[in-house]
Amino acid sequence: MTTKAIITGITGQDGYFLTRLLLEKGYEVHGVIRRNSSMSVGTLALLEPKLREQVHIHYGDLTDANFLDDLLGAEKPQELYQLAAQSFVGYSFQNPSSTYDVNIGGTLNVANAIKDYSRNTRLYFAATSELFGQPKETPQNENTPFYPRSPYAISKLAGFWTVKTYREAYKLFMTNGILFNHESEVRGPEFVTRKISLHVARHKHGDTSVLELGNLDARKDWGYAKEFVEGMWKMMQLDEPDDFVLGTGEVHTVREFVTEAFREIGKVVHWKGTGLDETGISESGEVLVRVSPKFYRPLESDNYRADSTKARLRTHWDPQVRFAQLVKTMVQSDLTKA
Ligand code: NDP
Ligand code: GDP
Repeated sequence: MTTKAIITGITGQDGYFLTRLLLEKGYEVHGVIRRNSSMSVGTLALLEPKLREQVHIHYGDLTDANFLDDLLGAEKPQELYQLAAQSFVGYSFQNPSSTYDVNIGGTLNVANAIKDYSRNTRLYFAATSELFGQPKETPQNENTPFYPRSPYAISKLAGFWTVKTYREAYKLFMTNGILFNHESEVRGPEFVTRKISLHVARHKHGDTSVLELGNLDARKDWGYAKEFVEGMWKMMQLDEPDDFVLGTGEVHTVREFVTEAFREIGKVVHWKGTGLDETGISESGEVLVRVSPKFYRPLESDNYRADSTKARLRTHWDPQVRFAQLVKTMVQSDLTKA
């Protein structure tokens, strides 16, 4: 029998890789898309037409409980991946209310629709390392205390506890993936990794503008999104639902990401000054990077390093892509597009 899965957030980064993975595995893939005035379909447009045509599209918004009730009642999928979210931390400080509406209300709507209309559907919820805030212990695993430090993180904490509570109260298969940063050539352009890879590619093609960034000292555990969606799928195949940390265990700063990205186009960056006065300069003295307060956040959340021992043991998830290869993949991809 063909396995049916619904992906919310199918037009985003992870939706792109998960759609490919599930189609490869022979799934019947359904995706939720919210209507926009240009009828654009995000990363779905990047799939080869023969793959895109296989996806069953349902137009609807996560904040619309009736839509989700009808969808779950009609489709009764074996699996649902709840990836849809306002996913940008910076934006959540400016727009906490709409972030809560989608990330808390939307996740509650999904959980209720499963409980009331499709109890055999397995749910994956996209939680995040942001739950840890500024962690007191390193590395972080499933037992590390949560201390969210942004409206985004608070909303994901509510989603995490909704999923856990529904799992325990109603005996439903609902799993939380506490995923650390994962990036790719289809990452949204406002996230720092893609902002850098896009800039470096444009620079190589002659753009002389200076790259403006916020906190260069921010330290993150960056992995490759394609491998992280494999981890999501593996969690859904276990006998029991649970909570799992996924991350590479390797940590780098934003500054290191910039240095590595410019190295990819043959430029060495020398860092001079500190704080807001820090600049990244080429060997010929050209200013490549400067710091702008515009990109600082009211609160930082970093110093992340994942301990994915539980997921590695239980699901055999084993990511192979390391930092240098991730940067290379992103820059090389953007060089072909810029
Ligand atoms: P993206 O921002 O790329 O994708 C988010 C998706 O959610 C988009 O398809 C977006 O649609 C959709 N969406 C947003 N609001 C609604 C709504 N009201 N109704 C329906 N759909 C909506 O995120 P990623 O793919 O990077 O991440 C997937 C999930 O994993 C997110 O929940 C994110 O918070 C979480 N996560 C991501 C991490 C990462 O490093 N990438 C780390 C940890 C967690 P549209 O295209 O219309 O905007
Ligand atoms: P996040 O980890 O989900 O918030 O992903 P981002 O890519 O948005 O941010 C990663 C880290 O980079 C955060 O600690 C930011 O403070 C830091 N950062 C530094 N400069 C920038 C910038 O110009 N844009 C973004 N988005 N983040 C930046």
